[in-house]
Amino acid sequence: MKMEQLYSGKAKTIYKTDDPTKFISQFRDSLTAFDGKKKSEVANKGYCNAQITKKIYEMLEEKDIKTHLIEMASDTEMLVHAVEIIKIEVIVRNIAAGSITRKYPVAEGTIFENPIIAFDYKSDEYGDPMLNEDIAVALGISTYAEIEQIRNIALKINRILVEYLDEKGILLPDFKLEFGRKDGEILLADEISCDTCRFWDKGTGESLDKDIFRFDKGDISKAYEEVARRIVPDIFD
Ligand code: UDP
Repeated sequence: MKMEQLYSGKAKTIYKTDDPTKFISQFRDSLTAFDGKKKSEVANKGYCNAQITKKIYEMLEEKDIKTHLIEMASDTEMLVHAVEIIKIEVIVRNIAAGSITRKYPVAEGTIFENPIIAFDYKSDEYGDPMLNEDIAVALGISTYAEIEQIRNIALKINRILVEYLDEKGILLPDFKLEFGRKDGEILLADEISCDTCRFWDKGTGESLDKDIFRFDKGDISKAYEEVARRIVPDIFD
């Protein structure tokens, strides 16, 4: 049973339930970019992202990646294990795009021979600065063992996702993961969706993700629906 709101972020709201070990994560239609400076509401976004995340998390579970997903509570809500979120944004990059092309001398579209894993401190107050293992441990954000484990899980998720999306005609330049702790285990938490990944159409190179909103590149509802059509075609039957 859904109870009081625990936390409301930029795109999702977390509710308590009558079971303290479970939360409900609601995917909303609100969308922000540039540290919340640009805001909008996008019809059907919450639905598409919830359904895409569900499908991807179920697919990852089949490959022994542990996630916080228990089951859907509604079309736009997930019943999830209550985890303690590790305040690290794990960024995985296969092709150069976004901030790496602004901060370093690398052209957009450059394919990285080895995937890049980078860590940002998840903190609006400090503007998500980059972290390394020593900073994360010094600040008490995580242990060395956790970071090592997170890195290995992120690389495994990347291998699985790149192949899975390729079959659907989607390239995966980069994406962001968040993990949580539960009973000494690390679970994949948060979401994997058009808000947290760069998805490029394999044929045309067109963005099918939040970059459409960031840079006013077209109809965002249509693009998110296109990704949902490729990943969860059954919801359109
Ligand atoms: N990302 C995210 N949330 C963040 C920061 C990044 O979901 O707070 C995702 C983003 O959508 C992209 C990837 O992580 O798929 C890499 O983002 P980048 O560092 O290039 O930042 P951006 O260019 O999006 O500002």
